[in-house]
Amino acid sequence: MSRCRREQGSAVKFGPALMRQADQLAAFTEDAPRITRTYLSREHRQAADYLIALMTEAGMQAGIDALGNIVGRYAALDPAAPVVMTGSHQDSVRDAGRYDGLYGILSAIACVKDLHARGKRLPYTLEVVGFGDEEGVRFGVTLIGSKAMAGAFDPAWLDKSDANGVTMREAIRDFGGDPDAWPDVDRRGKLAAFVESHIEQGPVLLNEGLAVGVVTAIAGATRLKVTVTGLAGHAGTVPMGGRQDALTAASEMILSIEKYALDHSAEGGLVATVGMIEARPGAINVIPQDVGFSIDLRSGDDAARRRAVAALEGQLHQIAARRNVKVALNRFYDADAAPCDPTLQARFARAIAAQGIAVRHLPSGAGHDAMAFPALCPTAMLFVRCGNNGISHHPDEIMSAEDAEVSTRVLLDFFENYVPPPR
Ligand SMILES: [Zn+2]
Repeated sequence: MSRCRREQGSAVKFGPALMRQADQLAAFTEDAPRITRTYLSREHRQAADYLIALMTEAGMQAGIDALGNIVGRYAALDPAAPVVMTGSHQDSVRDAGRYDGLYGILSAIACVKDLHARGKRLPYTLEVVGFGDEEGVRFGVTLIGSKAMAGAFDPAWLDKSDANGVTMREAIRDFGGDPDAWPDVDRRGKLAAFVESHIEQGPVLLNEGLAVGVVTAIAGATRLKVTVTGLAGHAGTVPMGGRQDALTAASEMILSIEKYALDHSAEGGLVATVGMIEARPGAINVIPQDVGFSIDLRSGDDAARRRAVAALEGQLHQIAARRNVKVALNRFYDADAAPCDPTLQARFARAIAAQGIAVRHLPSGAGHDAMAFPALCPTAMLFVRCGNNGISHHPDEIMSAEDAEVSTRVLLDFFENYVPPPR
């Protein structure tokens, strides 16, 4: 990294300050020493106050919208200029790391601060947003902020309750917002582009020694519940040959799912995970009769994901037939991939190359605020290397000040050289 900085002929500008700001935001937590900050909480308000102060100091007009999104505006000289939006989410999972979401907001504010210090305006108004909710921890609805901006807010969400029975409607009011003003947050037809910088939350860039990468698409996902039905029996009296053991059948199925994903991993970064399993009756001396397990299947390539669903269904039925058990698959969730715009990807690629870094394109297996925007406007994401084997949604999530420096330079280069197409 020092080599890059020497070549650029400029000193460290962003990294250490960004690390300090992330540490400060980590203090706004509902269950210290762990980091947890949910939508419309007191800590959401504290984070908003902190971010609004940073935005104001960076030369932006900043405030909170009706649903608790934090919005800073760095206006173009021409009031009729198009609007480009950037940012990420302020909320966290329970016992989170300190960079997921927040880093994308802080890095963008640092870019504006640098532009403002140089008296430089852009050919578009740049809005930096801290979305109130992305993780969905409090009300069980994800991407509330970004979906509202994308015109996909469902007013039925307002009646959803948190663990204490407080509805989203009440929580928005208590926060000082206006639950009925959700249509005002809709930005359809008003954005030229959406750009998000985010920690990778995986080990790909780390393993390849790269500080940043260009996201090609946010993976689509299919989730299934699989039910395997065998026949219970006494663990001591039923001979091995005649058993209809639902758990050994499920085990073979799970390994076959893993093998399929390994063999097809090149197809849009296909991954498959069995994260939940339950066996009944669940006694040490009884052959398992009923097993339920989950499948989470993701790929940046929707056709590859559909092929995988069909292939796995066939595989599981074959195994069930051979083992004389029944299997049923229930697909309960399907979301298509959100593609990133090729022109914006190329712009990021040039900004990365300008830092002397090899350009790596990669899909995002995790969901992000950016996935709400391709329906509205060209969308792009920059990934920043995640340390510690890529661990995230965990207190051991780390990123380095050097990577914060480089990725903010890349983001700034993007903003300074991006020209929205004429409308
Ligand atoms: Zn995130």
